[in-house]
Amino acid sequence: MDKKQKIILSRIIFSTLMVLGLNLISISPKIKMYLYMAVYLIIGYDVLIKAFKGIFNGKIFDENFLMTIATIGAFCLSIYENSNEYNESVAVMLFYQIGELFQDYAVEKSRKNISKLMDIRPDYANMKKDGKILKISPYDIPVGSEIIVNPGEKIPIDGIITEGNSSLNTSALTGESIPREVKSGDEVISGCINITGILKIRTTKVFGDSTVSKILKLVEESDSRKSKSENFISKFAKIYTPIVCITALIIAITPPLFNLVLSKMPNWNDWIYRALTFLIISCPCALVVSVPLSFFAGIGGAGKNGILIKGANFIELLSMTKTIVFDKTGTLTKGTFELEGIHHNQLENEIILEYAALAESFSSHPISKSIQKAYGKEIDISRVTNVKEMSGHGVISIVDGIKVAVGNNQLMEQMNIDYPKCHSSGTILHITLDGKYAGHIVISDLEKSTSKEAIAELKKMGIKKTIMLTGDSKKVAEKVSKNLLIDEFQADMLPENKATEVEKILNRNDCGGKIAFVGDGINDAPALSRADVGIAMGALGADAAIEAADVVLMDDNPMKIPKVIKISKKCLSIVRQNISLAIIVKFVCLILSLSHVIDMWIAVFADVGVTVIAILNAIRALYVKDL
Ligand code: ADP
Ligand code: MG
Repeated sequence: MDKKQKIILSRIIFSTLMVLGLNLISISPKIKMYLYMAVYLIIGYDVLIKAFKGIFNGKIFDENFLMTIATIGAFCLSIYENSNEYNESVAVMLFYQIGELFQDYAVEKSRKNISKLMDIRPDYANMKKDGKILKISPYDIPVGSEIIVNPGEKIPIDGIITEGNSSLNTSALTGESIPREVKSGDEVISGCINITGILKIRTTKVFGDSTVSKILKLVEESDSRKSKSENFISKFAKIYTPIVCITALIIAITPPLFNLVLSKMPNWNDWIYRALTFLIISCPCALVVSVPLSFFAGIGGAGKNGILIKGANFIELLSMTKTIVFDKTGTLTKGTFELEGIHHNQLENEIILEYAALAESFSSHPISKSIQKAYGKEIDISRVTNVKEMSGHGVISIVDGIKVAVGNNQLMEQMNIDYPKCHSSGTILHITLDGKYAGHIVISDLEKSTSKEAIAELKKMGIKKTIMLTGDSKKVAEKVSKNLLIDEFQADMLPENKATEVEKILNRNDCGGKIAFVGDGINDAPALSRADVGIAMGALGADAAIEAADVVLMDDNPMKIPKVIKISKKCLSIVRQNISLAIIVKFVCLILSLSHVIDMWIAVFADVGVTVIAILNAIRALYVKDL
């Protein structure tokens, strides 16, 4: 509990004791009234201040305003009636403050839980200086430094292992509980915990650009992006509260006037009291707290599973998603191509592969990495100059003074070069040397082991349509989509075509609901930002994807897609439950209060009760069962 909460708690305890005391002793009515007034101010002064501030800021109709007029009204009524019955006003304030305290506490607690879940921030990095190992703030470590990570410590900065091997616990980042084995030469990302061996790491980024910093920034910012349901509440309050106030006025005035007309007792006091009770019951506290809290818990639950959602609104959009558009390479397939064959005219296989590997040596595309691997030899990058990467086409570089182009059919067409139609079912990379066709390399990519299961799971969850967009050839696309049971595909797409295609899909009327695009961030960032929800996968490290996406899956397992949809659906159903519970209870209380079955303070009690239940229900969004 923080200081503010402690102060409220002591005010609550003090006022409760005072009210009990005032009920037990007998003093003159006048003094009693002043004492009650004092207690009322002690327990409620901040509500009164907020209500007055609200009036001056133009935000008149909030719960503070309702509480204030209702309790002051009740107090004045007691003075006017000379009933000496001030318990009610004070009790109403008291319950209200108990409810507020509980809310405050619950919100803070869940915030803490979530940040604990995301406890990946390293406090220091070990660096050797003058023969001694010093603990240094990660902010002060330049790129290219050598740091040492002992077993049990977090890797503070992204880098490459230069010495040692170990297993890493990546669960805080990916939700994956199986440790990852790493050895010298492997890239590691910050936020993982080193379990077994001592590692020496050469840093490749500064702390601010490292994975940990990026993730924490995302989590912190996710809070500021509001969901539509939250907006719904503030809009709702704007209409709702004035209606409530006018209704209360009607309740207070009309029946007594009616009675007057019928020449009966007008019963002013009685109806004013009912109107005040009506006002109190109408307070939308449970809604105001529980809805944001549910979304917050949903984001936390996703984080625990290695899924970063950049804002509450994306939970809502995900839950309404009916069409999912996938990128192929790196998303549904592994993006690690195997060499299948080299077809050529005169040159030797080795030479073709060497030119290709050298020309590709600066590209970060999965194809490039695979070609490097197939080539298998050390690359002398000084032989390569003038590298031009043409996204969705291939690369053109100068190697040993020769202009080498490596790429697909489109690249050949763009360069006006005749190329043979190859009948292999793999991905074809044509190679030209100084503008002359030299041959092609056939490579093929494997589907990820869980792609098929993920698509099936999505169908089961009510996703109506799955579509694959790829820059690869039609033949490859056809094979993959048939294997994975994807409804539609489009091949030979450039990155910008993927975005326009997503746009077209957004306007199609056979794809109802919201549209999500899932990609790996390579050649598909425009599409990621164009879709209703952009989901980047395996994005640890791919900066463009983290920027462009709304949801980031930390590892590259396609099963995370049905998982995040499930989390969002659960979260939304909790929000709906809370909204309905609150509205039903309010409604019942309203009816009961009008027929005088319940008093004002029972109404407040009911409101606090609903708020507590709604908060507990909201916390459920933190937990999602495995698929
Ligand atoms: P996908 O849409 O399946 O994820 P990309 O858009 O990343 O695929 O790439 C589309 C196609 O563009 C590849 O299949 C390949 O033919 C060609 N291509 C892209 N980058 C390269 C590269 N670095 N080298 C050769 N070909 C490339
Ligand atoms: Mg891709």
